[in-house]
Amino acid sequence: MLRLNILITILKLRLMNNSRMVKVSLLSLGSNLGNRKKNIQNCIHSINNCKNIKVVAVSSLYESSPMYNLNQQDYINCVIEIETTLKPLKLLKNNQLIEKNMGRVRSLSRNQPRTIDIDILTYNSEIINEENLRVPHPRIFERKFVLNPLFELKGNIVIPGNDKKIEDLIKELDKKSDKIRQCKYKINEKDLSYSS
Ligand code: ADP
Ligand code: MG
Repeated sequence: MLRLNILITILKLRLMNNSRMVKVSLLSLGSNLGNRKKNIQNCIHSINNCKNIKVVAVSSLYESSPMYNLNQQDYINCVIEIETTLKPLKLLKNNQLIEKNMGRVRSLSRNQPRTIDIDILTYNSEIINEENLRVPHPRIFERKFVLNPLFELKGNIVIPGNDKKIEDLIKELDKKSDKIRQCKYKINEKDLSYSS
């Protein structure tokens, strides 16, 4: 009996330790090459299949014209919420490996068409300013394709370093450019498959 109690205590302690290591992160996914919806779906599957990551929420898909480099196809984007025990730089590396495996070719110039792009928007409420990783992602506030799915998923979530409401930021951007198009496709979070 004593042995069983000790075993249960050890298991619980392990569980608590693990839950303290679990962080919540929001990721922005985007694709504008090939079958864009399929790419997003496959990417979510790949992320969810990682040993140290669990996908807990997926926004609708949104379609929008390209920003920055206008001479390319329209994008499909979404935002997902994950739970992970990976540290931020490990998560970045993990995401980059998934991008590579999905045929992402990195060119020297930025904003080129891509099969898949995975950006880390937030990592708990941490502020990270490493050479190759900035969190919260510095361009969240100028991107409707991030703000709209983010608002759908998390409402007026507070992003560290910003005191404006997400919906007010969206309204400001809506005044300046075309509204973003919400697709009728939604990735089913339970089996991560499509339903339309
Ligand atoms: P972008 O997403 O800006 O179109 P890339 O996907 O090619 O461009 O990423 C360029 C670099 O941005 C990566 O090598 C990565 O190290 C860096 N980076 C900095 N902060 C982040 C972040 N929060 N999420 C993803 N990449 C980031
Ligand atoms: Mg990126």
